[in-house]
Amino acid sequence: MASALDSALTQFHAAADRLALGDSQRDLLTAFKTVFQTEFPVEMDDGGFRVFQGYRVLHNGARGPTKGGIRYSPDVSLDEVKALAMWMTWKCAVVGIPFGGAKGGVVVDPKSISAAELQNLTRRFTAEITPIIGPDQDIPAPDMGTNAQIMAWMMDTYSMGRGYTIPSVVTGKPIAVGGSEGRYEATGRGILYVLDEHLRDSGGVRGKSVAVHGFGNVGGVAARLLHQAGARVQYICDKDTGIYHPEGVDASSAFAFIEAGHVLADWDGVGQRIAPSEVLEAPVDVLVPASMEHVVTEANAERVRAPLIIEGANGPLTPEADEIMRRRNIPVIPDVLANAGGVTVSYFEWVQARQYLHWREEQVNEELRRLMVAAYHAVWSRCLGESGCSMREAAQWIGVERVLEATTLRGIFP
Ligand code: NAD
Repeated sequence: MASALDSALTQFHAAADRLALGDSQRDLLTAFKTVFQTEFPVEMDDGGFRVFQGYRVLHNGARGPTKGGIRYSPDVSLDEVKALAMWMTWKCAVVGIPFGGAKGGVVVDPKSISAAELQNLTRRFTAEITPIIGPDQDIPAPDMGTNAQIMAWMMDTYSMGRGYTIPSVVTGKPIAVGGSEGRYEATGRGILYVLDEHLRDSGGVRGKSVAVHGFGNVGGVAARLLHQAGARVQYICDKDTGIYHPEGVDASSAFAFIEAGHVLADWDGVGQRIAPSEVLEAPVDVLVPASMEHVVTEANAERVRAPLIIEGANGPLTPEADEIMRRRNIPVIPDVLANAGGVTVSYFEWVQARQYLHWREEQVNEELRRLMVAAYHAVWSRCLGESGCSMREAAQWIGVERVLEATTLRGIFP
């Protein structure tokens, strides 16, 4: 199976072919501004030390400071971080926020170490990447395995090095230390806004049947908001347990249970227990793959029965699966558009931190809707204007064109 970086480069070159970009333009846009790799020691609870591997990759800063999450996972690799950084560049350009793309990661299972060790690791990793991050330079955020508490430690570590508090160095912080209202729900809410707009001519999400694969920050929040908006969320799952109910699972209650630290297997709400993989093949109006990369592959793509897919996770379809959906005329609302709500509200958090302002949640959600709906229409109208074009291609073209435009306008220094 292709790596995430192979997928990112395949998508880029397909867009570059269509936009007739030359070799030097391709080299410019696929070059990574900074690739930082470190092996750093962390003091463990037993008084000994363990060495961890960490990465921070800044892809392209032509449109502004770079932005992207930090992932803690045993499977993190440099190639994966590079792919995710590149996707962030296009994503920020597609939603029209003034950032380039970056990503970071540490090879660690955060559940396998204590809270004190997690804090030590985070503070030491932040110290390692301090020379390349900063509110005008590169702004980390949470991703898989990291959360608001970890962002608070990062912000504190960076600030202590400078001698005063710098809240705009990271986003996704707790509200008490400069986080934004609505940030936690932003990715799921963005999915709701884009899907509702796409389905506007048939009454929006209300009454539509939905299957959501993955029940964490993205999938759980999306399922809850879709349920609250009147969709029938018939299928949900986490990595071990799927749940089906023909009238719709009570996703609000199920997610409250997960947020309290439990797993779906222990939830006593109404619904039939099924295998998580069945959720991807559910006969529903909309499939939302929101768990992780590459869950729909050439092995199961023919069995997907939903006539519409909206990507909550990054890269949940392999390029082969994407091609199968195109052949089967199943539209895919791509990740760079669909899950951009998180980075969009991160941008609002950064703006608020720089101005020492705190927006109301209604204001955050209203601005989020405005940017997501505008981005959706830019992609959709581009799609309608080009025969045989998928929404993924249209989004990729828009992202690449905007980054190229900024690069060309700025020129090459010196
Ligand atoms: P998370 O860790 O909060 O949740 C992941 C969920 O997927 C969990 O319920 C987990 O049990 C489930 N899962 C994992 N493997 C699975 C499998 N094989 N089958 C079924 N379920 C499985 O992570 P998250 O923050 O929700 O991120 C999910 C995806 O969305 C990732 O690809 C991430 O990069 C992407 N993403 C996240 C954000 C964000 O703001 N959190 C923004 C944009 C994109």
